[in-house]
Formats: sequence, C-alpha cells, structure tokens
Amino acid sequence: MPRIIKKRLGKNVLGMASKNNIIYIDSSIDKNSAKGKRVIAHEKVHLAQMKRGDLDYDNKNFYWKGKKYPINKINDSNKNLPWEKQAYKASRRKKVSGKRRRKK
Ligand SMILES: [Zn+2]
Repeated sequence: MPRIIKKRLGKNVLGMASKNNIIYIDSSIDKNSAKGKRVIAHEKVHLAQMKRGDLDYDNKNFYWKGKKYPINKINDSNKNLPWEKQAYKASRRKKVSGKRRRKK
C-alpha cells in the first residue's frame, strides 16, 4: 500500500504520485471524500505504471515506454498524455463498478 501524504500542491494539482510509493494529495482535499478517493485511485494507476517501468521521470523529463517528454513542454495535467489517458480510463472503470455494487 502506498503512503498517502497531504501536501500543499501547485495550482490545479489535486494529486501526485512519487517513485518511492507515496501519493501526495492536496491539503484542501479530504482523502476519505469521493473526490479524495478519486484522486487516490488515479494516482495509484501512476504508481503501477512506474512499478511496471512504463512511466519514469527525472528533473527534466517524463519517460513513457522509453519515449521522452520534456517537462517544460507539457502540461502535467494534460489528459492526452498516454499515462494520463490510461489513469483516467482506469479510474473511470473503477467508479462504474462501484456504482454497480451499490445498486445490488
Ligand atoms: Zn495523472
């Protein structure tokens, strides 16, 4: 299980995943709220991507499956980045199955 740490993150940043298995969540968000759970589910996908070796980063770049994405050229919250697409898709799927469970 990742450690979840509350932190004041940048503008428009709700969560962040770090290579050392830590999820940061913005201090304005209650991690037990629906929003908080959504953010954590999303960041968990990024942790899995990093564990698999698909996603990596350093001070200058993101790396996705060996391809370089200079940090200063991308918007970190850009939903079209391949690792973000996968994370949004995965957290959407989780939400849907949650709804089904409640209906029963
Ligand atoms: Zn993300």
